[in-house]
Amino acid sequence: MEPPAAPAYLETSSESKRQRGGTLIAVLVSGMKEHFQRLSSPDGYRPEVCGRCGEGRLHANDHRYRWLRDLQQEVRIRRYLCAVCRAVWQVLPAFVPRFLQRSWPGLEQMQGERAGPLPVATKKRLAARLSLSGIMVLELLQTLGVLPQEDRSGAPTRAGVVQRLVQAGVVDERTALQESAVLVHRAVPGVRLM
Ligand SMILES: [Zn+2]
Repeated sequence: MEPPAAPAYLETSSESKRQRGGTLIAVLVSGMKEHFQRLSSPDGYRPEVCGRCGEGRLHANDHRYRWLRDLQQEVRIRRYLCAVCRAVWQVLPAFVPRFLQRSWPGLEQMQGERAGPLPVATKKRLAARLSLSGIMVLELLQTLGVLPQEDRSGAPTRAGVVQRLVQAGVVDERTALQESAVLVHRAVPGVRLM
């Protein structure tokens, strides 16, 4: 079977100056099925060019593993190594947040009343993150023209910003967290919604 065409990538800056490489997010890969499909070929997630030196060919190097509690499974993450500058790039499918132990769909579910038997502590933690100030994120999205400039009233939380994105029709309500996180990530690499 033909490997699927490389998805669109978004780069984050390196976490530190000394670190080579970083994380790329495959924004179009939203499910486990496509993720497995792409993992099956070394080309499935291969970026066209190294984001650090701009010229190196990237070789499928090794894997990292991320445990996602809501899916109760370990997700394999492919890493590529640049043949020229030795930068290492890991490629996350869009449904895996960079720093959290649950998939975006799992987090979306926790937000709603459908949450059911999920641990209270986890739900609280999510609520706490979403209640952080969203002012910087809002201004960012307004400056970029993603959201209209006019409404600067109040002091929005992150949840409030997500809500505005839904109201403006920028993101779908069912996948609001994941889509908003991708938007913010695209706006300023390194800044995260959650
Ligand atoms: Zn390179």
